[in-house]
Amino acid sequence: MATQYDLIVVGGGTSGLEAAKTAAQNGLRVALLERKTDPSKIQRSCAQMFLMNMDSFYNERMYFSTEQKKWVFPVNNFTVNYSGDYREFYALHFVAPNAEDRIEIGDYEANSSGRGTPAVVFDKGALLGGLYEEGKQAGVEYFLERNVVDVRTSASGVEIKTHEGDTFYGTFCIAADGVNSRLARKLGLNKDRVFINTGRANSYYITGVNFDRSEMIALGLAFAPPPLGTVMFSMLPAVYREDEYWLYIVGEERLKFLTQESAFKKWFNNVEITHQRCAVVSNWGPAKEPYVDRVLFVGDSCWFAEAENTGALLSGHKAAMSVSKALHTGQINREGVLDYIEWWQKNWAETHDYKEFVCYPIFNRLFTEDEQNYLHNIVTEKLPWTMNPFLMYRGLVRGLTPHMERIKEERPVIAQKVAMFKPEAAARLMKPASRMGFPGY
Ligand SMILES: Cc1cc2nc3c(=O)[nH]c(=O)nc-3n(C[C@H](O)[C@H](O)[C@H](O)COP(=O)(O)OP(=O)(O)OC[C@H]3O[C@@H](n4cnc5c(N)ncnc54)[C@H](O)[C@@H]3O)c2cc1C
Repeated sequence: MATQYDLIVVGGGTSGLEAAKTAAQNGLRVALLERKTDPSKIQRSCAQMFLMNMDSFYNERMYFSTEQKKWVFPVNNFTVNYSGDYREFYALHFVAPNAEDRIEIGDYEANSSGRGTPAVVFDKGALLGGLYEEGKQAGVEYFLERNVVDVRTSASGVEIKTHEGDTFYGTFCIAADGVNSRLARKLGLNKDRVFINTGRANSYYITGVNFDRSEMIALGLAFAPPPLGTVMFSMLPAVYREDEYWLYIVGEERLKFLTQESAFKKWFNNVEITHQRCAVVSNWGPAKEPYVDRVLFVGDSCWFAEAENTGALLSGHKAAMSVSKALHTGQINREGVLDYIEWWQKNWAETHDYKEFVCYPIFNRLFTEDEQNYLHNIVTEKLPWTMNPFLMYRGLVRGLTPHMERIKEERPVIAQKVAMFKPEAAARLMKPASRMGFPGY
């Protein structure tokens, strides 16, 4: 007979490893099922920025303590050990197609000279490897190379089946199987969600980058002749080598255009791709609640696009604590984990609107090359430092607002386009099976 676990965690990414470790440390019998051979080997695209203390994300104020080698979540009262490498970066710049004009978020000079707060990129493999080891020490039973294909729930618990032929039983289950969650689909969680699109993310680690103020995240645009059209990219320093940068751009044709033909070619010199990662991302609106019949959903599985690693850690941790409490008090039902459900609804769904997230790439596409250059040129003041993807579009609008009278006078067509564009319109404009992706991926 298959073993009964207190908790089965499906997925050994950031949220799953944190959930399993926390539950095992609380004394629960935990199985974690992961289809990969080694959870710390990262194949999926991730810019590896740690979204930290420049603003409130999920109503948390997380920061990285380099002294203690910990990610600190002071509002939710826990820490996560991280002893991997990190690399600072200092601002986010929206860069015009002319590769000159920029709308600047954050003060590069202050942040790079120790007068401000830099951000960091981290090594996700080191984070996951560390969580895995801590989980092992706490007694998590790992079942690797297990592809979960079915989940059934009943009054007595959750039954999980794998492609490899195993069956696992859990009193509770945490679904941490990522943005294309099979558990969400199987349990009907997606029925009430808005489907936005499926996008592919290609990211390249490259050398041969050389330009002034390169230690920032650049969100840029170039205009290529058909069939490529608008080429969006994002680029930021990589953690693995000092001369390496992470470049998100859809496909090598665009990479070649950007680095060899566009106005940005002056940023690049003998580009070499050191390695590549990719991801397929199904973007759904957030779930109504992150729970179905004793299965708690965490991380990307129930959210829009990306919970980010910080959100994955937060939700994995909170869900594991909630399950621990439910088991301890004998409330083996929705009421028992209501604190997690309510926390998620308040700090995720009610705090961040996914429509704001999709605005930026769509807003980008409303303007011609010349209009883009004009808009990037007009905002000269530095905008408040944030990397919260839900605030990106609002930040842009905030930057443009003081200049709207001038824009109306000089370029009325641009002013009309800016005024007509609203977050509600953005979600409708996303095409299913889109290849355009978002600027961050
Ligand atoms: C291009 C891109 C850039 C990003 N940049 C950043 C960034 O800069 N900073 C940041 O913090 N976040 C970033 N993110 C987001 C971040 O990577 C995710 O939000 C985070 O990894 C979510 O963690 P998760 O545990 O929910 O899911 P995942 O990390 O996707 O983990 C899911 C795990 O479940 C496993 N799994 C899936 N299905 C099954 C199955 N059926 N059976 C068994 N195992 C299964 C997978 O193999 C995987 O290990 C980025 C994402 C993308 C795509």
